[in-house]
This record gives sequence, structure tokens and C-alpha cells, in this order.
Amino acid sequence: MTAEHPEKLLSPVLSDSWDDDRPWTLDTYRRHDGYKGLHEALRMDPDAVIALVKDAGLRGRGGAGFPTGMKWQFIPQGDGKPHYLVVNADESEPGTCKDIPLLFANPHVLIEGMVIASYAIRCSHAFIYLRGETVPVLRRLQAAVAEAYQAGYLGKDVLGSGFDLDITVHAGAGAYICGEETALLDSLEGRRGQPRLRPPFPAIAGLYACPTVVNNVESIASVPSILHRGKEWFRSMGSEKSPGFTLYSLSGHVTNPGQYEAPLGVTLRQLLDMTGGVREGHRLKFWTPGGSSTPMFTDQHLDVPLDYEGVAAAGSMLGTKALQVFDETTCVVRAVTRWTEFYAHESCGKCTPCREGTYWLVQLLRRIEDGKGVEGDLEKLNDIADNINGKSFCALGDGAASPIFSSLQYFREEYEQHLREGRCPFDPAASTVWA
Ligand code: NAD
Ligand code: SF4
Repeated sequence: MTAEHPEKLLSPVLSDSWDDDRPWTLDTYRRHDGYKGLHEALRMDPDAVIALVKDAGLRGRGGAGFPTGMKWQFIPQGDGKPHYLVVNADESEPGTCKDIPLLFANPHVLIEGMVIASYAIRCSHAFIYLRGETVPVLRRLQAAVAEAYQAGYLGKDVLGSGFDLDITVHAGAGAYICGEETALLDSLEGRRGQPRLRPPFPAIAGLYACPTVVNNVESIASVPSILHRGKEWFRSMGSEKSPGFTLYSLSGHVTNPGQYEAPLGVTLRQLLDMTGGVREGHRLKFWTPGGSSTPMFTDQHLDVPLDYEGVAAAGSMLGTKALQVFDETTCVVRAVTRWTEFYAHESCGKCTPCREGTYWLVQLLRRIEDGKGVEGDLEKLNDIADNINGKSFCALGDGAASPIFSSLQYFREEYEQHLREGRCPFDPAASTVWA
């Protein structure tokens, strides 16, 4: 991978067929080697499928990067209980837009991955928990599932293998917290979506208290190509600890926002070189490597390898690989206020640090943004974030504290300018993303 040859960075696997005519149909998917991985898997022992995915080094693409094969291996075998696979398609981390476009363009790659994963973990009923607002995606998924039943990829005796699988597509009701895996399971069971205490992790007690694998859409969609092309091929991309390809969502003040597939370890500089850069006449000010829950970066971090280790070493997290780019017209206080309003709104209210803390963060941020902040506000902001971070019941609390810490770390002077001048020094109309 070199900056001199940015076109070589692209690795279309998941997005391979997106520009084809009607890429969501079974015919198009089959023309792109669709369902060949499943044929391969059904010739193997289920444990060998798990071992292959583990050896390939695939890591969860929902944000946390947990090894996918290891998660499958946690499912106890011979326990006499039903096993479930639940695909988390409740994508909603701010700036994240890769699972929904993937499902819209090519739902069959997820279905094929689900059949392979279910075969491996000995599951006969799998679920897709989809963000409910995306009605066209819901319809497309339902149609693809029906097509897969008709073609013998789902239902009784899949492709004559003796393995049975049903898939249920479930539309959520639009709560960010239902993307947290245990809140998602509660919601799927018909209860109000709130996180459960972990452990036990879902692998031991998940849906209906049975062993359950919860995987992100992109993680499962990455599986068919590993079965079809092998672990060495997968490992030939990315780095040793973060192998493979992935989808980055590029948004904000860039010339060409969108989804870009590249090997893990690509840098933002390389992605910008490939995609037209920051909008003309402007320069990068700050950006998020993996959505607003991940500590922000600045123009000093353009060469950080976007893989799990590289981003962590630079003080943030790869998260959902949602690269939100802001140029010099954006007020960082304004951006952080908008994100914090989102977290306060989406806090499920179960634990006090997050429920109360996010409310007070919003009050303080709004008054600073409005130029009405007073001395001591920045210390208070830091103190409240500190009382949320690591003291909340689930990751939402930590995510809410993260932009506060990182913006104070890199842009404290800008906060102080608001306090000193008693106004926001930026023209909100100039920053198109927050106007
Ligand atoms: P986590 O690290 O606690 O867990 C990751 C996965 O590994 C889970 O499925 C969990 O069950 C499993 N796991 C971890 N330890 C285990 C063990 N000992 N035994 C069995 N299984 C184990 O992360 P999390 O709280 O589930 O998720 C946080 C991540 O979610 C963040 O990194 C964030 O980037 C991401 N996120 C994504 C979105 C989105 O829209 N995709 C939204 C918000 C947050
Ligand atoms: Fe609910 Fe927030 Fe507590 Fe998570 S951290 S359980 S979202 S109140």
C-alpha cells in the first residue's frame, strides 16, 4: 500500500457488485460467485468451518473487533439447548453508514454468511434485527430471504445437506440502545430494549436464555469469501492482527462522501487521496476514526493506520470505521454539543451516571456554545464526563464521554475562546454539515 498508487488500495469484495444492474438479485449474486462459499462449507465439518474463520483472523466489524471465530467457538456444543444466530443490523452510530448500504445493494451476501455461520454453530433459527426506519431495506431483505428459500438455500435440508435453517427478519423501532447486543436481545424477545448485565455473555445465555452468537452485518457478510477463497487470501490484506478488507464510511466535509472498501490499515490520507479529498478550498480540522463514540483525531493523525492496533496506539478506537471529516469552518463545541444531545436523547435511563450525566453535559455545552459559559465550566464538563466514563452500565456512557475528553484535549483553546468572547466565533452557515 503506497500513497503513490492509491488506486491499489481498493479491495472490492463486499462492494464488488454494487455497480451492476440490480445487484440485490440472486442471479447477479451468483454471477459474482454467490453461494459458492456455502457449498464449500457444507462439505466441511462444522468445527472445521469455525476453525477456518478463526484462522483467517476475521474480527467483528460492528466496532469492538472481537474475533468472530472465537465467538462462534464459545457456543457450547451438545448442551441440548437451541442455539441462535442474531445479526445486528441496527446500525446507528453517528456517521456510520456501511451495513445498511451493504444490505440494500447485496442482501444475499449476508444470507449466505448467515447460513454458513448457523451451520457452524449448529443453529436452526437465525434472526436479522434491522433498523426499522429503513423500510426499503426491510423489503429488499424480505424479498431476498424469500428468494433464498425458493432456491433451497434456506428451509428444510439446505442444498440436500440435511441441515435446516429458518431466517426471521425483525424490524426494530429506532432506538440507538437496541444496537447494544443485550438490549437488542431484550427487544427481540418483546421487552423494552435495555442492556443486560454481562457476563453471562450471549454466547452462554442470549436469546431466550440460550447460547447465541450476535454478529454485525459486515462480519457475517465477510464470511462467504473466506470459505470460497481461503484464509491465506483473506490474510493477504490488512495487517497480521487486523487482517482482511473492510468498509469505511466517509462523510462530512469531503468532496465525495460514501462507502469505500479497502484493506484494514489504510490511512485517512490515502482514502482522501483516492476519493477527492477535503472539500475544495478548505483544510482538515478534526475527524472521527469510528463514529462519534471514538475519540476524535486532528490533521496530525492523517497517517494513522486505520486498523484496531494502529488507531488504539494513537489514542482512539477503530470502532465502526465511520470517518466523519470536519474542516476549519466547523466549531468543535457545536459538533460536540450535537453529538452529546444525541447521547442524552438515546440514553436508556437504566443507570444514573449516563442518564443524569448526559443531561448535564448538554446543559453545560449549550451554554458554552451560546457564549453564556462561566469560569469553571470546562472543569465541570471534564468532571461530569469523568463520572460517566467507566462508571456506566454499558458502552453508551463511555461513548458519550469520549468526544468531551478528546475535544478538550485538542481544542481547549477553542472552548476558552467561547468563554472569553461570550459568543461562538464561528459562522454556523459556513459549516455545511452543522448548519
Ligand atoms: P465488547 O468488547 O464488550 O464485546 C464485543 C463482543 O464480544 C460482544 O459480542 C460480546 O458478547 C463478545 N465478548 C466479549 N467478551 C466476551 C467473553 N469473555 N465471552 C464471550 N463473549 C465475549 O463490546 P460491546 O459493548 O458489545 O460493543 C461496543 C462497540 O460497539 C464499540 O466498540 C462501538 O464502536 C460499537 N458500536 C457500534 C454501533 C453501530 O452502529 N454499529 C453503535 C454503537 C456502538
Ligand atoms: Fe442505559 Fe446509558 Fe446506562 Fe447504557 S450507560 S444502561 S444507555 S443509561
